Amino acid sequence: MRLTVIGTGYLGAVHAACMADIGHEVLGVDVDAGKVRALAEGRPPFFEPGLHEILARNVGSGRLRFTTSLREAGGFGDVHFICVGTPQQRDSQAADLRYVDAVVDSLAPHLTRPCLLVGKSTVPVGTTGRLTARLRELAPGADAEVAWNPEFLREGFAVQDTLEPDRIVAGTLSSRADETLRAVYAPMLRAGVPYIGTDPATAELVKAAANSFLATKISFINAMAEVCDASGADVVTLADAIGRDTRIGRRFLSAGLGFGGGCLPKDIRAFAARAGELGVGRAVAFLREIDEINMRQRRRTVDIARELAGGTFSGRRVAVLGATFKPDSDDVRDSPALAVAAAVHDQGAEVHVHDPQGAGNARAVLPALRYATDVTAACRGADLVLHLTEWRDYRDLDPVALAAVVRRPKLLDARNALEASRWRAAGWTVHALGRPAPATAPGPQPARVTIPHSSGSGSAAPAGTDSLSLSPK
Ligand code: NAD
Repeated sequence: MRLTVIGTGYLGAVHAACMADIGHEVLGVDVDAGKVRALAEGRPPFFEPGLHEILARNVGSGRLRFTTSLREAGGFGDVHFICVGTPQQRDSQAADLRYVDAVVDSLAPHLTRPCLLVGKSTVPVGTTGRLTARLRELAPGADAEVAWNPEFLREGFAVQDTLEPDRIVAGTLSSRADETLRAVYAPMLRAGVPYIGTDPATAELVKAAANSFLATKISFINAMAEVCDASGADVVTLADAIGRDTRIGRRFLSAGLGFGGGCLPKDIRAFAARAGELGVGRAVAFLREIDEINMRQRRRTVDIARELAGGTFSGRRVAVLGATFKPDSDDVRDSPALAVAAAVHDQGAEVHVHDPQGAGNARAVLPALRYATDVTAACRGADLVLHLTEWRDYRDLDPVALAAVVRRPKLLDARNALEASRWRAAGWTVHALGRPAPATAPGPQPARVTIPHSSGSGSAAPAGTDSLSLSPK
């Protein structure tokens, strides 16, 4: 089949490469000429494990091309996948659909062949219906319809998730559209991937519901971490114990700094806003609390870090390990790590950030911070080390060697991912979110940190700690 993929960012570039890899002729389209140029040369414009190989292979075979021309796309595609961004609006919590609308508006005059427009971007329920009306108005004679096929890929595992998804959800308005999507995904369906054919509204809602559930699970365990901190209990043991119940499950129960990135935060806000428009805001009012718990982890982390630094960041040198919103990605959109680093800097610390892949993107957002090319350089002379993104590289660090370069061996593991006993054995004071300091640790006794009650809104939060979102508000 001949497919176009419109919007070749984190979602679209991977989708385009994977669709070519399963045998389709694919034309990727983006308004960003630099991105198109890089992709056309087989170079991913961002870091995603496995993307380079699959991109280069399919560009090389000629099955995958890229363009900035929607006219060319209109004349080429049997199916047009819409993969553009749907960020949060600047002045509200709702999704900004201007990029999705712009694709339909610009593509409509060029729809010269029978085709199906398939949205993969995350959108408010009702978008397929709205775009169908828009398309009929703009291209009344076109043999074209709209369907929604939400995407569930995880950055860091995007290639694998696209080629071997847990399920394919397809919201269509006709059996012809359904058959077209089954044909697109035929190799995956033959491999046993479940296909859930439904109406567009349900498909749109599946994505909103999935992300809401995941966000809720993360905020739930982070709420438990707060209770553990107040009571001396251990959230990791708690998560292990409740996670043994198969109805609960252990995945997504890692207490820490919370979620961020280009999806979960804006998606739960957009869902709550859309539910409000539909008159059922009460039904998902809990999502505001989920969001608040999540943002509070950033404030708590800054508060605990300040306590560990001796009550002030002024004159302190702080090493930050991790800038991206998650490991195995260079994506710093609404990154909790970067938000914490920025707040620590704002409160007077000299902050040295290391990230295996995301330093370039982080520097573009926060040029005032210092960026180190290796962990040792970031930690040299540090009064405090903050572990904020759980890259595998950090788990393998040598705490003995690092203890020799810092000024004070103090570590805050805000991801509960480092082996605290190893670090303590090397002389470090280790604090982790939701975990008590050990009663008898080998080596020097860690000082017990009194955790300040974190700033809810309106509390006496120090300047800078109540604006810990890097996404537009
Ligand atoms: P992104 O910002 O990385 O990519 C969007 C791309 O669209 C950019 O390259 C931009 O230049 C391009 N674009 C904007 N307007 C365009 C137009 N008119 N024509 C052609 N190209 C245009 O965003 P992303 O992370 O890939 O997310 C895209 C959508 O997918 C969002 O709705 C997001 O919520 C959803 N999604 C993302 C992920 C993820 O992990 N990133 C996972 C599932 C769903």
